[in-house]
Amino acid sequence: MAEFTMELNDEQKEVRDWLHGFAADVIRPAAAEWDEREETPWPVIQEAAKVGIYSLDFYAQQYFDPTGLGIPMAMEELFWGDAGIALSIVGTGLAAVGVLANGTEEQIGTWIPQMYGDASDVKVAAFCSSEPDAGSDVASMRTRAVYDEAKDEWVINGTKTWATNGGIANVHVVVAVVDPELGSKGHASFIVPAGTPGLAQGQKFKKHGIRASHTAEVILDNVRVPGSCLLGGKEKLDERLARAREKAKQGGERVKNAAMATFEASRPAVGAMAVGTARAAYEVALDYAKTREQFGRPIIDNQGVAFQLADMRTSIDAARLLVWRASWMAVNGKPFTAAEGSMSKLFASETAKQVTGQAIQILGGNGYTREYPVERMHRDAAIYTIFEGTSEIQRLVIARTLAGTPIR
Ligand SMILES: Cc1cc2nc3c(=O)[nH]c(=O)nc-3n(C[C@H](O)[C@H](O)[C@H](O)COP(=O)(O)OP(=O)(O)OC[C@H]3O[C@@H](n4cnc5c(N)ncnc54)[C@H](O)[C@@H]3O)c2cc1C
Repeated sequence: MAEFTMELNDEQKEVRDWLHGFAADVIRPAAAEWDEREETPWPVIQEAAKVGIYSLDFYAQQYFDPTGLGIPMAMEELFWGDAGIALSIVGTGLAAVGVLANGTEEQIGTWIPQMYGDASDVKVAAFCSSEPDAGSDVASMRTRAVYDEAKDEWVINGTKTWATNGGIANVHVVVAVVDPELGSKGHASFIVPAGTPGLAQGQKFKKHGIRASHTAEVILDNVRVPGSCLLGGKEKLDERLARAREKAKQGGERVKNAAMATFEASRPAVGAMAVGTARAAYEVALDYAKTREQFGRPIIDNQGVAFQLADMRTSIDAARLLVWRASWMAVNGKPFTAAEGSMSKLFASETAKQVTGQAIQILGGNGYTREYPVERMHRDAAIYTIFEGTSEIQRLVIARTLAGTPIR
């Protein structure tokens, strides 16, 4: 285990500075354009692929940083550049993690390269879990996968919604019900490659923020995929379902969902994205407050403005510390006895909403226009309290963890 220190090591500083350079030179200057276009910024993803930021190798390297700070540091810098573009760059990672967590070695080797493509032909991937009637309540999912033993194929039917990169992905990872009796224990994940008959994009959503990230419905109409597309394989699924059925028979002991532990480990990464957006808005506001003069002096000379900046900076630093703590716990296998991962996501995302709003206030009329980036950052920040579990769901998880009651 790495010794405790509050300082990044030289290697981490080097990576951070490199990412910051990319965010400042490539992402930030493109932010306003792609926000207006509301399209996936393919040329920026391609640039990221060229320099090695858009690749599984890069994220794996950061993930295996023994201090746990590699991923949060990377997320903070990229999202500091722009949240919509950064989500287009890191969105594939959500699907890749789905394959890494549940797939066999062969599935990992086959599908992950197809998720990223290469610098001359970049591809993206989508993770499709949410449905129109199953957002926070994942157990009420209706997309059904049925096994056709004669053909060794799975037949999938259903509608997924709000999928990042949905319909434009080269690889879709689709979560579906294989045993409706078992609630969320009866789910399994499938690879659905682009071009599979029956797979189609539904409506593409026009959004409030992160508009450079593509969000759409994904329709699965009698989609057939070979048995090899079930992540983890049939044998492992049958064993898992048999165990779940046995537990259900024994009086339905409500075991803690293993997925909860995964969420605790992944939520700090979303917290770090929120820290990046909050820091970006704070920096613009600080700079503005020092240079904008009213009543013959910089507005920062007014305590009412300076105290807001003090609060903004304090919240951002506190959010980062919660994110770093949870990331360090995840990498070092510490049990999340107080749902520290959810805590970090809750606090950082609420901070981003608050701070970006304060930044608009400090910039006054300019803050409210698209001449300055804080208006966009405020719109972007609203997503953090919604995806990867809403703030209310984070509070529910924290409260139930503290109370010792089951989380379903
Ligand atoms: C831009 C964007 C990108 C997304 N990307 C993906 C993706 O790539 N893949 C994917 O699968 N999904 C994705 N999502 C979906 C996202 O994860 C869901 O929107 C989120 O989980 C919330 O679900 P919901 O929208 O159905 O809200 P609901 O669950 O309907 O919640 C509505 C409101 O009720 C509250 N609420 C619900 N239950 C409770 C409760 N028990 N206690 C207290 N309050 C409660 C919620 O907090 C919220 O305020 C994305 C969403 C967006 C907007």
